[in-house]
Amino acid sequence: MKTQFHFFSIDRLAEIVPAGKCIVITDKNILFNYEQQLSPFTKIVLEAGEEEKSFESLNLIIDQLIRHEADKTTALVGIGGGVITDIAGFAASIYMRGIPFGFVPTTLLAQVDASIGGKNGVNYDHFKNLLGVIKQPDFILIDAEFLKTLPETEYRSGLAEIVKYGLIFDKALFNLIQKNVKNILEKEKELLEEIIHRCMDIKKAIVEKDEFEANERKILNFGHTIGHAIERIERIPHGFAVSIGMAAACRLSEAYAGLSHDVTFQLTDLLIKFGLPVISKTDPDIILSNLKMDKKKRGEVIDFILIKDIGEPIIVPIKPEEILSFQRI
Ligand code: ADP
Ligand code: ZN
Repeated sequence: MKTQFHFFSIDRLAEIVPAGKCIVITDKNILFNYEQQLSPFTKIVLEAGEEEKSFESLNLIIDQLIRHEADKTTALVGIGGGVITDIAGFAASIYMRGIPFGFVPTTLLAQVDASIGGKNGVNYDHFKNLLGVIKQPDFILIDAEFLKTLPETEYRSGLAEIVKYGLIFDKALFNLIQKNVKNILEKEKELLEEIIHRCMDIKKAIVEKDEFEANERKILNFGHTIGHAIERIERIPHGFAVSIGMAAACRLSEAYAGLSHDVTFQLTDLLIKFGLPVISKTDPDIILSNLKMDKKKRGEVIDFILIKDIGEPIIVPIKPEEILSFQRI
């Protein structure tokens, strides 16, 4: 079944799923901020944070589903950031071999990225997303009002991903973001919903072509190869690491894909205005050895996603040791 998309207030959630027919999975922070809106619903409430994306939390959810006598007609609704949507989608996909589910993503990152594409799962031990399934939700409700209570760091982290969509796929979106830095930082609702909508459309189009990540979907990893290495080492928020990774990928693109330096300048200027870092504090050699362990490495080379220009991505295989010879990460 195809996912239905709704852009309206959480107050209208019951129009999509009647309160008596659904169970909400959320975390303590969301419940604290939105207690009144969630009051009509039966809830399973987790602690907040990435550690909760675990097999133990999954167990707890399944126990509660049994206790609430959930059956094939019960819809599970994950209301929260990527942690909540990932685990809610996984629980719904395996309980009784699959029950209906939908998402109300409440972080910018989850709205434009985590909730779309059907990747659901949990971490196991120190392995990220080791257990999971690919299954599309029945619906996604976007309410940009949620972003007003989102911690500033989380918000800025999400901004890195929207810049990514513009840079690799949509020059008009990139220009729109450049022209509206102040309004975006002020969280102007209509503008944000338009931007979120465009990012979702881009991700949806790519996922439809390549649900199981054979090719096109890899392009979404722009800035993520170096970004993930930095995230692992520095333990900074995902979007902050991706911001550094995107700036590095642009410098690489100048060398390997003929990108004009002006684009790198425009990108770093925009990221800095959003309060995002563009240079890592880590010794480049440490980043290099971390990159070499990257799972996307094929033999001696890593497939880097680069751009020839704004909106023109290409994949270029590069030896990790080469990337340090001419640039600062
Ligand atoms: P993501 O993976 O999408 O970045 P997480 O699920 O890790 O998001 O959530 C990040 C943090 O922000 C968590 O502590 C969560 O409780 C909190 N949070 C998520 N959405 C909101 C919101 N709209 N308002 C306040 N806090 C939120
Ligand atoms: Zn990302």
